[in-house]
Amino acid sequence: MLDADTCRRFEKLLRNRLREIRETLSGATQRTPAVELETMGTGSMTLEEGFRQRAMASGLRELLDNDRRKVEAALDRIAAGSYGRCCACDIGISLDRLCSDPATPFCAECYEDVRLRRA
Ligand SMILES: [Zn+2]
Repeated sequence: MLDADTCRRFEKLLRNRLREIRETLSGATQRTPAVELETMGTGSMTLEEGFRQRAMASGLRELLDNDRRKVEAALDRIAAGSYGRCCACDIGISLDRLCSDPATPFCAECYEDVRLRRA
C-alpha cells in the first residue's frame, strides 16, 4: 500500500496530466473544422490529404480521450483508496512502474497479459 505522501505526489502528477490532456483536446477540437472547411480540396491540399489529416486528428483525439479516461480512473482510485493496486489481481503495483506511468491500472504481469490478448 502506498503511503499518503506518495499518493498525494501521484495525485498531483495525474491532475497536471489531466489538465494537459484537456487543453490539447480542446485545441484539437478547434483545429479540425478549419482543415475541413477551409483547406480541404482547395489550394495545395488535395482532398485526399484533407481526409488523411482529419483521420490523423481524430486518431489523436481518440488516443488523448483514452488517456483522459485512464487518468480519470486513476484519480478515482486515489479517491477510493485503491490506487497503486492492480485492478486485475489486486497486488501492489511497483513504485518504478507507477513512476513511469502513474495512470497504469495493472501490475507488470497483468499488463503483459492484457497486451498479449489484444495483440
Ligand atoms: Zn496484476
